[in-house]
Amino acid sequence: MIARKGLRSEVLERVMLALADERDPQAVVALVASVLERETGRRCSVLEAGDESVRRHIDAARLPGAWTAGARVLLAAVVDGEIRVVFALERDDELSAKDMRILGLVAAHASLVLSNALAFDQLRQHAVEGAALAEAARTILGFTELKPLAAALSGLSRRFFNAERSVLYGRAGDELRSLGSAALPGAPPMPARLPLESAAAEEALAATGDGRAFALAQLRLPGHDASERSGLLAVMRPAPFEKGDHRLLESFVTLAALAIRNVELYEQSARANRALAESNAFKDDLMAMFAHDFKGPLTVIGGFAELMIEDGLEGDQRSAADTILAQSRRLTKLSEDALALASTQSAGFSLDRTPDDLVQFVVEAVADVDAGSGRIALAVPSEPVLVPFDRSRLRHAVENLLVNALKYSSAPIQVRLHVANAEARIEVRDWGIGIPAAEIERIFTRFGRASNARDRRFAGTGIGLYVARKIVDVHGGRLTVASLEGEGSTFTIGLPLY
Ligand code: ADP
Repeated sequence: MIARKGLRSEVLERVMLALADERDPQAVVALVASVLERETGRRCSVLEAGDESVRRHIDAARLPGAWTAGARVLLAAVVDGEIRVVFALERDDELSAKDMRILGLVAAHASLVLSNALAFDQLRQHAVEGAALAEAARTILGFTELKPLAAALSGLSRRFFNAERSVLYGRAGDELRSLGSAALPGAPPMPARLPLESAAAEEALAATGDGRAFALAQLRLPGHDASERSGLLAVMRPAPFEKGDHRLLESFVTLAALAIRNVELYEQSARANRALAESNAFKDDLMAMFAHDFKGPLTVIGGFAELMIEDGLEGDQRSAADTILAQSRRLTKLSEDALALASTQSAGFSLDRTPDDLVQFVVEAVADVDAGSGRIALAVPSEPVLVPFDRSRLRHAVENLLVNALKYSSAPIQVRLHVANAEARIEVRDWGIGIPAAEIERIFTRFGRASNARDRRFAGTGIGLYVARKIVDVHGGRLTVASLEGEGSTFTIGLPLY
């Protein structure tokens, strides 16, 4: 038919029309074959590029075209300089040069559409792989231990590559050690001798003795000497691996290396944290022990000084006994502060809160600190004020404020307990040296002292307010101050009511 009438020149247009929207490479091939059959009235078969009968005729083809080969005409579709597919048209008569030219153009157009479809397919494949990798990343980047991670990686890689067996190796010097593996039941073992030493390991897509295929990818762990720290992922399956598989394998091992590095970093920081916590605990214990063991001897020293004063010492001896008593009290206070500081710093700092009457509590605290000197004026409500609080810790905070007010002023001081805005407020007011405005926040920091207290040589450590604020904070309250230098200060503890 071709010989008699020749090919209609619209064949090319029809092929173009039929292929216009086709994106699937296999469908492109099937369509070209069917349009050729329809238009020529001859059988058209599709041959692989590697087919022997094809190679003989058009092996050298780097461009698409049509060739006469015995009783057939071969149309070569070429993509990226390689024959991808060959359409074989049966013929029983000669084709004119014009027919062959038209068939050559059909081959060229088929090549173009096929190449587009392949590129599109690859993009889609990349997108699918990208989504799968992102999903894998979500799973494996959360691991904090190597063993379960290695098991998860092997399992994922087995699924990713449809493999019968997948093994993750870690390299220690020249040795390779399996870190984790995953296999289908009955899967054969990895070949005993993988080409591990060679640089080719990174690119190896090879076959085992029994015809199975395996692929290897090098794991390069970031931040380390590659030879020491690298590893290897090996996957094995019946179907051969292709270039696309290797690209995915490379992405997968990059992700795996990141996940392994993550685990290592996590372990490092966990180790550092543990060491830090241990040394902190040791420091806290040491401080608590010192502070605690100071108190016993100090109480004895203070007690004897009081006895000597009561016995009626006079003159130099009396003033020496007064000094011993004052200094031993100071040391006692210091050791109490140190003890409180150590306990607020320890991880287990907590309160033992019970709802109780704050009025009675404040009355007791003031009476103890005032010790009959009459320097503290107290105003409290007539009704009980119920607040959940830790008696001994809050006592420590309140005493710190009272002792400071007495220390930093020579005039009497005022203490007032009242309720405002659903808060119980303990106010300690003095008319002493006050605090320079710029240094107000500093006095609540650890060891923080104001310059005027230092300059005027008031003894102190800068621990008391820091501890007091911590204690009030953990009660869910606030410790604040209003002060004017040279005029005086009012410290306020605000606590939520019961
Ligand atoms: P310390 O009194 O032992 O130095 P504190 O932590 O109790 O430590 O107080 C921190 C600093 O706050 C003091 O050094 C002082 O500068 C200032 N301060 C505290 N209470 C008063 C007060 N009532 N009047 C003036 N300054 C004060």
